[in-house]
Amino acid sequence: MNSFARPLRARIHLDAIRHNYDYAKQLAPHSKALAVVKANAYGHGAIAVAQALADRADGFAVACIDEAMELRESGITQPIVLLEGVFHPDELVVVDRAELSVVIHCQEQLDWLLVARPTRQLNCWIKIDSGMHRVGFAPAEFAAIYATLNACPHVGKLVAISHFARADELNLPNTAQQIAVFEQTLAGRFIPRSLANSAAILAYSNAHVEWTRPGLMLYGASPFAEAQPLATALQPAMTLESALISIRNLPAGAPVGYGGRFVCERPTRVGVVAIGYADGYPRHAPTGTPVAVNGLVTRLIGRVSMDMITVDLTDISEAQVGSPVELWGTTISAAAVAAASETLAYQLFTGIGRRVAYSYDE
Ligand SMILES: *Cc1c(COP(=O)(O)O)cnc(C)c1O
Repeated sequence: MNSFARPLRARIHLDAIRHNYDYAKQLAPHSKALAVVKANAYGHGAIAVAQALADRADGFAVACIDEAMELRESGITQPIVLLEGVFHPDELVVVDRAELSVVIHCQEQLDWLLVARPTRQLNCWIKIDSGMHRVGFAPAEFAAIYATLNACPHVGKLVAISHFARADELNLPNTAQQIAVFEQTLAGRFIPRSLANSAAILAYSNAHVEWTRPGLMLYGASPFAEAQPLATALQPAMTLESALISIRNLPAGAPVGYGGRFVCERPTRVGVVAIGYADGYPRHAPTGTPVAVNGLVTRLIGRVSMDMITVDLTDISEAQVGSPVELWGTTISAAAVAAASETLAYQLFTGIGRRVAYSYDE
């Protein structure tokens, strides 16, 4: 839905996404990189993002066949990997026709693949559970699965893939342990490998191997809660912006908004901004969450409503109705809003509401 009147919009900076993809490649210069564009490119618009990367991406990764078909129908010709494989054997017909690559993470998917009769060889990414314990074959099962797929005439290229549970937490032993389990599982077989999500691209160069899988970093947010030197070069790809729609002066002691949760500590100039939780602004953002008005950082006050939030304008005297407000972007990081709200930039980006208008800067 495009609204001409409501000032709320998500501005997407495609040059930042290109920069961040190139940066992922520069950090892992011997690896190819699958641009992860699942969940509508983390809320940035999958078609626009894939087209912006089409001249340079080695491949794309998505969560399901509808996401893959959207890319194919928009003219993307690179390899596209279905990160969870197929959910039903009938999907393999589409995989064949659209030349998609599938993850195989469980016995059912293996059985479906073996009895399929595709018109060409299907490329398979064999998922190994190196310690996350969500999906994937146990290390002890790998040798047999690999032999079976290798012997199957309609199976093409194979890649061994695994995913990290805690690469975003710096200085823990878990990621090194997962890498060790993965390498032991392959036992020196020559098979292309894929391990690194954004956090591991930034923090674990020994996980780069043949294929990386950058997701969040493409969109310019750091996956780490703490400062990490390499993450500072990422460029935010989304500016969520709106405007002040009302301003009032309240005396000390006046409650603001639902539940009277915030009570003015001093005479307060309160601004109302056109954005709320129905647009994807986190409902649990507390008083004090940073917001920028006219480029100046101030704070959210009171509860987030469905369509509006209230902000403190007491120290921003030049603010008036219509003044621009940045919820996150280059002045306020999505990570800071997420941290204040006890969520993640991943959820903020993917939670952008349907009535938010998008615009794209080249
Ligand atoms: C989503 C996903 C990624 C990307 O992770 P980021 O943390 O966003 O970089 C990589 N691999 C798999 C299997 C995924 O599901």
